[in-house]
Formats: sequence, C-alpha cells, structure tokens
Amino acid sequence: MLDSPLTSVKGIGPKRAELFEQLDVHCVRDLLYRLPRDYLDYSKATPVSQLVDGKNAVVQVRICGSTRFFRSKGMTILSVSAQDETGKVTLKWFNQPYRSSQLKDGEIVFASGRVIRKNGISMINPSISQALPGIVPVYATIKGVNQRAWRDSILAALESVWDQIPESLPRTLLEQYSLVPLALAFRHAHFPFSREALEMARKRLDFENTLLYFIILELQKAERLRQNGFSFDTSGVLDKYIARLNFSLTNAQMRVISEIAEDMRKPSPMNRLLQGDVGSGKTAVAIYALCVATANGKQGALLAPTEILAEQHYGNLKEIFGDSVVLLKGSMKKSLRDEAIRRIEDGSALVVVGTHALLSSVVRFYDLGCIVTDEQHRFGVRQRAAMLEKGLRPDMLVMSATPIPRTLALILYGDLDISVIDELPPGRKSVKTSVIPTNKREDMYHYIAKQAQEDVQSFIVCPIIEESESIDCPSVNALYKELKELLPNTRLAKLHGQMKEQEKEKTMRAFRAGEIDALITTTVIEVGVHVPNACIMVIEGAERFGLSQLHQLRGRVGRSAKQGYCFLLYGVESDQENERMLALTKTNDGFEIAQKDLLLRGPGDFIGTRQHGDDSAGLMMGAMDTRLLEQASRAAREILDTSGEESARLIELAGERYGSILGDIAMN
Ligand code: ADP
Ligand code: MG
Repeated sequence: MLDSPLTSVKGIGPKRAELFEQLDVHCVRDLLYRLPRDYLDYSKATPVSQLVDGKNAVVQVRICGSTRFFRSKGMTILSVSAQDETGKVTLKWFNQPYRSSQLKDGEIVFASGRVIRKNGISMINPSISQALPGIVPVYATIKGVNQRAWRDSILAALESVWDQIPESLPRTLLEQYSLVPLALAFRHAHFPFSREALEMARKRLDFENTLLYFIILELQKAERLRQNGFSFDTSGVLDKYIARLNFSLTNAQMRVISEIAEDMRKPSPMNRLLQGDVGSGKTAVAIYALCVATANGKQGALLAPTEILAEQHYGNLKEIFGDSVVLLKGSMKKSLRDEAIRRIEDGSALVVVGTHALLSSVVRFYDLGCIVTDEQHRFGVRQRAAMLEKGLRPDMLVMSATPIPRTLALILYGDLDISVIDELPPGRKSVKTSVIPTNKREDMYHYIAKQAQEDVQSFIVCPIIEESESIDCPSVNALYKELKELLPNTRLAKLHGQMKEQEKEKTMRAFRAGEIDALITTTVIEVGVHVPNACIMVIEGAERFGLSQLHQLRGRVGRSAKQGYCFLLYGVESDQENERMLALTKTNDGFEIAQKDLLLRGPGDFIGTRQHGDDSAGLMMGAMDTRLLEQASRAAREILDTSGEESARLIELAGERYGSILGDIAMN
C-alpha cells in the first residue's frame, strides 16, 4: 500500500530509510512523489565531432587500445581512447578502476556522460552500455543515496504497490483534461520510455499538484475575506494627494487607486498585486495607499529590495510626508538605527521605508495599517508572512514590474487580487533598442563618449563583477579597465554588489549629480533606479539575462522627455538567441515580452525563484505550461463550489499536501 513504511520495500533497509527520512520521505507514496529533478535524453547517439562542451550526451564508439591508469591529487584516473567515424574521444573515470574490465579493445559500446572540450574531447565518468540508455532520470542526490540507489529504490517501491495505486483524482477530471491515471504517471515520470510518455506523466502529476495547491489558495482567500482587519476612511485623501503631485495621474493610475481605495474601506485585509511596466507610475499609486493609512492614524511601511531603492523612495516620500518618514536599512550607524527603531515603535514615524532590515524581530510597529512591497518577486512567501505579522491584519499591496499571467502570479504570491497599470504617463518616448554586432562594438563606445560631451549619461551593464576562467563573459572589472583605455576623456565609475554600502551610495549620488558619465555596473541597477539624465543603456553579455530582465534594465533609461537608447551585445550566435534579442527590438510592451520569455524559457527560469528559495514556487516548478495552470485553477474553483464526497476528499488531500506550507487554515 502507498502508506507502507519504506522498509517494506525490497532493498530498502533501515539505513537507507533513515536517509530518505531526512528528505521528508516517510512512506512509499512520498517516495513515488519524489520526481526526478531533471532528465538526460540519451535516446539518440551524437556524433563525436558534434559534442558540445559541458553538455551531457551519448556516443556510439569503438574502444581503441587498452586502458591506462594515472594518479593525480590522490585519485586514480582510468582513461581509454574511443572513436566513431567523426572523431576521437577520451573516456575518463575517477576512482573507478573496476571499469577497466568492461572496456575491451575493439568493442563497440554506448558511452553516456558529460562532455569536456579542452585539449581534445573527453567524457567524464561515462556509463557504458550495450544499448541506448533512453531517457534517464536525475534525482536530487543526498549523501549516501546515489542515482543508482534512487532508481533501484523507486523501481522496487513501484513494484511493491504495482496494482494497488489508488487513483487520487476523480474520473471526470481525468477525462476532461486528458490526464493519464496516477499509476501510469508514476511509472513514466520515473522510467519514461519516450519523451511523449514522460510529458503525459509530468502533465498529470503537475496538474494534480497544482490543483491541490490552488484548492488551498482558494480556501485561504475565503478565510482572509472572513477576517476583520481595519476599515479605512478614504474620504478626502485622494484630493489632498493630487494637490501635492506636480503631474496629473493617468486614467490607469486613477482606476487602480479606486480599486485600492475600495479594498481599504472594506473590513477584510487588502491583498493586492499591482502590476505595471517599468515607469508606469506604480510607486505614485502605492503612495496613495500610504496616505490612506496615515490619514487614519495608522502607520504605513514600504519594503524595498535594495538599499539604493530604499534611499530613493525615502527621498520621494519625504516630499509628501516630511519628517514623519523614517528610513531603516542594514548599513546604518547604530545610533541612527536605534533612533529609527524607537520612532517606529513609539509611532512618531508614520511612514517607514526600508529593506529586509524591516523584517527583523527587533522592529516593532506602533500600529501598522498598510504594507507596500516594491518588486515583491524578490521576497519570499516567508518574508511576506514575517512582515504581515508586524501589524494586526494590515492591508498589503505588492508591486511588480514583471507582468505575469494571473495563475502564475497566484503561485508566486498566494491568494490575491490583481490590478494592472496598462498605460504610461504622457510624453514618455519608448526606448529604441538595437543589437550591436561585435565589429561595431568600439564605434558604439566612442558614440557613448561623444554623447557624454553633451551631458548624456550611460549605464553599462555586465552579467558578472569579476572575470572568471569558468564563465566566458564580460565583467565589470575587465570592462572598466578596457574602457579606461579606450575612452580616456570619459568619466567612468563602477557600481556593484560587492562594494561597500557607503561607496555604492557615493557613486550613485555622483552619477545622479552628473559627475559621472558612464556607470559600469551589474543588475544592482535593475530595479527602480531613477536617473532622468541617463539615456543610454548598454547591456554586455545580454544572452545571460531573461527577456523580462532585459526589459527591466532598459526601463532605467528614457524616463524623461529625452529619447532613450538600449544597445544589446551578446556572445552566442544561435537562432534562439537571435530570436530573443529581436523580440526586444520589436516591442516595448512588457507584457508581450513576459509572454515571450515564458514561452522560450518556461516559468522556472523566468521568475528565477530558484535563487530566492521560495518553497511554494519551487513545488510548482514542473508546471511549465500556463494553460495547465489555468485549467487547474478553474478545476479547483469548481471543486470548492460543489459539495459532496469527492470534493471533501480532494480538500482533505490538499490539506495534507500543502496545508503546512501555507499555514493553518480552517478546513470547514
Ligand atoms: P514605477 O514604480 O512604475 O516604475 P514610478 O512610480 O517610479 O514608476 O514613476 C516613474 C516616474 O514617473 C517618476 O518620476 C514619477 O514621478 C513619474 N510619474 C508617475 N506617474 C506620472 C504621471 N501620471 N505623469 C507624469 N509623471 C509620472
Ligand atoms: Mg518602481
């Protein structure tokens, strides 16, 4: 049975069971739901001459000559030459001397493994087989359980329950969405015999996971709407705010403001995502929410992902709220920090702007009514929850410049309502984007020097800070050196995350003041940095960034009436790369670009949550297909709308699988 303990499976002893326990795998079911993290497609042999450095591949080769042993750094290295009609490859194994007996001179075998192209072509620790291995699953390894052990354990587990895997989803759902039965899905997700079989299996399992997750989200939402927070009085707030602005709000801004006002008047806490392209005026809208809070004698907080951005918001907020704004960030003198914390606690700070430092448990609010989070996709679910706990059911507004489909937004942010600013303030010219071929690169930099003479400033973005042997791409340090020589009369400066906070600030201030012509930097400037006089954005190594990220980056220029330019340079010539870059030159519509990105790279890469360690998103990483997300979302709502045994069982299942992640919710 699926509930059977692991030790009931043939080949899993108490020792291995204990290792699995560490991964939260306690029974046969848990083990089967541990899907491979990746798959290696070894279903077709590659000619040796076409092997790509760093990639996994399978070759069909003849072993030439006998094996040789080396010793190096305490390791035994076994190596043998092999070849096909297109070229030679050296097969190498570390500390696997026994392999030698499998390798007979003149024999033809399949070797599958990772390719290194350095002083010839070699393959490291390849597996040797007499037939094509097909599609090979790769599991997240832990110490003591290697890939082989994973596969053996899962196969044995599958065999132990083979005919007794109960179907978890109602038959009507399986039919409606063309999903394969659970038993088949397990089999093909772990041991696929073809791409198609694998896709069917993953689709089925992703659908199930997503459906259960959405059920929890919907229940959570119902729970939130039942709760009582604070009913804000919004009368007169908008007029006062408008009177302080030196521009008129766009129609889109007005519409979103009224949506926010309506949320805030309601007793249930607001939980709204505000999406809008870079420069569409989200912050101006968010400040309105802070005005509502302060007009009702409550505190408002603005959480920013970087110190540079927090500074910038602080400057803007001071103009509206004067001395009642307080800034809190990690790098602050202790005396200032203590003072800020004191004012947050005694309530003399009406508006608080800060970085992650705000999340610290030493920061206690007097009466926090509204939280605005800027570029929220950089914060995780847990951090958001930590912030919410600082008030009594405060209203929450999340801003994001990355427009994503609603369902994906739900996965990333949990249950929320969405507002979109789909209109730029008037007079904004869209940024002109072009791809710069390598032979025009120097001309482009000379152009930048010439523009500098006319007080036009530039951002130059590199993917990395320091040169590195293993990654071949432009770095801030190397480019700085190069441009110092190439453009001796241009005032250059560096800005990146490894610099001291004070140094960063000083540089940023100097750039804003026009004392620096070109800033050579990393993506630290990606979010929100606003320098109206910077009109040129150069992006080196553009192939290393997602489309949405590139779009965000270029949003740093053209933020005034002056024309903005973006120049893209990239090192890899491939059809896909060319297509990606061309997409950027063709449109300035962030939503269109996000859709394209999603299509080309899938949501995993797109939202980049892997780096941010957001559990909920990680769980859904397999759910690549936006349509599937939408279907699952619809199915979840349908299930909750119908009463009956089937629904009750699915809700219970959802609670078992995701209830703990999303916090306790009332299940009745
Ligand atoms: P976002 O946060 O969406 O990137 P911001 O709110 O920072 O955009 O706005 C970018 C710039 O545009 C700011 O300098 C802001 O003062 C200005 N701005 C915002 N709304 C308007 C508007 N309706 N008309 C003119 N300028 C605006
Ligand atoms: Mg912004």
